[in-house]
Amino acid sequence: MVRRGQALTPALSQREREQPKQNFMDHLTPETFDANARAALNDVQLRGALRYATTLFGKRRLEAARSLDNWEELRSRARAIKDETLLHLDRYLEEFSANAEKFGAQVHWARDAAEANAIVCKLARERGARLAVKSKSMATEEIHLNAALEREGITAVETDLGEYIIQLAGETPSHIIAPAIHKTKGQIAELFTDKLGIAPTEDIARLTATARQVLRDKFGAADIGISGVNFGVAETGTILILENEGNIRLTTSLPKMHVAVMGIEKVIPRFADLEIFLKLLPRSGTGQHLTAYQSLITGTRRSAADEGPDELHIILLDNGRSRMLENPITRQSLACIRCGACLNACPVYQQIGGHAYGSVYPGPIGAVITPQLFGMAKAAQLPYASSLCGACREVCPVKIDIPELLLYLRAEITEGPEEIRHEVESRKRRTSERVAFKLWAVVMTRPWLYELSGRVLRALQSLVVRRGRIGKVGKVLQLLAPPLAAWTAARDLRPIERRSFRAQWREKDRAGSP
Ligand code: SF4
Repeated sequence: MVRRGQALTPALSQREREQPKQNFMDHLTPETFDANARAALNDVQLRGALRYATTLFGKRRLEAARSLDNWEELRSRARAIKDETLLHLDRYLEEFSANAEKFGAQVHWARDAAEANAIVCKLARERGARLAVKSKSMATEEIHLNAALEREGITAVETDLGEYIIQLAGETPSHIIAPAIHKTKGQIAELFTDKLGIAPTEDIARLTATARQVLRDKFGAADIGISGVNFGVAETGTILILENEGNIRLTTSLPKMHVAVMGIEKVIPRFADLEIFLKLLPRSGTGQHLTAYQSLITGTRRSAADEGPDELHIILLDNGRSRMLENPITRQSLACIRCGACLNACPVYQQIGGHAYGSVYPGPIGAVITPQLFGMAKAAQLPYASSLCGACREVCPVKIDIPELLLYLRAEITEGPEEIRHEVESRKRRTSERVAFKLWAVVMTRPWLYELSGRVLRALQSLVVRRGRIGKVGKVLQLLAPPLAAWTAARDLRPIERRSFRAQWREKDRAGSP
């Protein structure tokens, strides 16, 4: 049995052993969202990396969706399958469990993160495991499995390149499918030089070859493979894991034991349903027609010639999902297939990235599921981290109405316990904001005052508009009314139209034009 403090496997390098035990981003929580977002907005490098990646993913998604002439129909069918499964989730989970066990898998049920971690740690302890290789998995991030294993003296090495990069950096993922989306090539090069001791280089081929070499050694030495699950098929007891790097193939086949952590919402009824989800998920996530690898695992390997683990453990994780299931409105959050498209489309995520959300689930879907999974008191800021523009709803391959969910959660906060309400009110409704909205309401509810204000503003702006721009006014605003300068700090203040809409309308009316 491995005890705390026991020496790590010799396969680990001295440099890796010196990795910081404490994650330096641990202080970023949903409770500090406002401050996190402000810090992110001031990070020029971060915003550049985000702009590049989200634009690219968005463009590729659109092209990939257009390659199918029945995209909308597929979305509707996928949603219908998810709705039907969620309505009878208990039955499908039982069916999945029975079929998986028929082929040699052992299924465990975990009510929460602590139970799930305890199961994995017990399995590892009983086999004297010291090194685990992991493939990218949001469920294991959600339960903080690496930290739990580390407390047992077991080292978990991330083998997805993006996850490996952020593990080396001591960070958390900032995107559901691209964990290191916030990092530039230069930052990764520096990290590899610092942590892996290679000569400084920004040659991507050399950087990836270095990671491949380090990770190959880990696969060979690992006692356990750990992964998440993209879909669990009730009809056959099969788990499907998607990837592009081949690391999941190695994670699920080289170590003797494999542990798959699967959120209970990942089950789908029939094998044939995969056809629909396999068209939607890669296209929505990376714009690929299909990921490079699809690992379908049904039980343990049957003969020496077979690939696959000798022991397969599937942990069905609840951790708050049953609560979401009870309510017909929040239930649709469980239809999410974690493609990340809503993150790329979200104007808020595009500016601040994932870490600002302080949760393993960032972006629009993170703003919806974080408060539901971890409690409203911890994440009351997140449902407000949206402009409600609806871009997330438009791109979601399973048609989740995220704006509806955000509004529902906001209503829950408004009508909920005093301390949660106060938490949001005190941050969101500053005195200056309250006064501004009161004034706005006074003007907007009195047409004569609205028109008069327009005239006054036009007269005033004529003093400062030069060549159609009033950019310098931001500095004046900064002196007179600091909150207003927040707008002009990053963009020009546009002059209002020379003639009001009403004036133009009256003119058209007089001229008798349609
Ligand atoms: S909510 Fe929809 S778009 Fe966002 S990650 Fe989930 S499936 Fe993808």
